[in-house]
Amino acid sequence: MPELPEVETIRRIVEQTLVGREIEEVNLRLPKLLRTSPLPTLNPLLGQQVLAARRRAKVLVIDCSGGLSLMMHFKLAGQFSVHTAEGVRHTAGHPVPDPSGPYPHRTTHLILALTGDVTAYLSDVRQFGWLRLLPTHNVETALDAFRFGPEAVGRDSIGREDLAARLARRRIPVKLALLDQGVLAGLGNIYVDEALHRAGLHPERPANSLANEELDRLHAAIPWSLERGIEQGGAKIVHNRAYPRDGFPQVHARAEEPCPTCAAPVVKIRVGGRGTYLCPVCQPPPRP
Ligand SMILES: [Zn+2]
Repeated sequence: MPELPEVETIRRIVEQTLVGREIEEVNLRLPKLLRTSPLPTLNPLLGQQVLAARRRAKVLVIDCSGGLSLMMHFKLAGQFSVHTAEGVRHTAGHPVPDPSGPYPHRTTHLILALTGDVTAYLSDVRQFGWLRLLPTHNVETALDAFRFGPEAVGRDSIGREDLAARLARRRIPVKLALLDQGVLAGLGNIYVDEALHRAGLHPERPANSLANEELDRLHAAIPWSLERGIEQGGAKIVHNRAYPRDGFPQVHARAEEPCPTCAAPVVKIRVGGRGTYLCPVCQPPPRP
């Protein structure tokens, strides 16, 4: 699933390849992606210039001239791919369609042609993603409606005391508290596992049981894991195996591989129904 690092990578691709270009053609092949859109078609984007790309949690916002903004959520399987006139491809998100294969793919639902012979493809094999076209001045209100917690990484990210206070109010496993987008925005399954391993915390520890130094470690580990993901353009996981074999993620999707810290085999458990990876030595279970 595209998580925050994948969406941030898509944001950077839009910023680097589309900003400044004019939209010459809009081909929405799956109109239901607009099912929650304030404006019912994407036609108003024709002839507009792409001005900026920003992100709140896992929502991407592309601001255009004409006072229009295009919001995108990639949900389970969204992929964004930009092809330049020189034949260079910039792709992030879900691994389907094959980034080196033919486009548009049968799962490509939106094609944008831009000046300079640049084409952007939005594909989504599961069709859970959505697009919304709305006036730019309504974007903040639309984002507020999601009631996202503070950002987990970057400028304006959550402070240590705020994180401590939000966890202190919950007795649920710390992993589930961290996955709650109202506690912290943009932290998904892979990066929670990585942050908890880095902090040496078992995912089933009650959120309100963490000692001060454990909170310190967790507060540092959350942006660490997301930044590692952003550095490599997202996590690569195929058939529940992480690649490259000795890279990042370090424990997620690495059952039975050695822990990078202590070499004990990584184990997989379920926490709140979510596949969860941990090192049983570095992350001791909660005391009964
Ligand atoms: Zn270990």
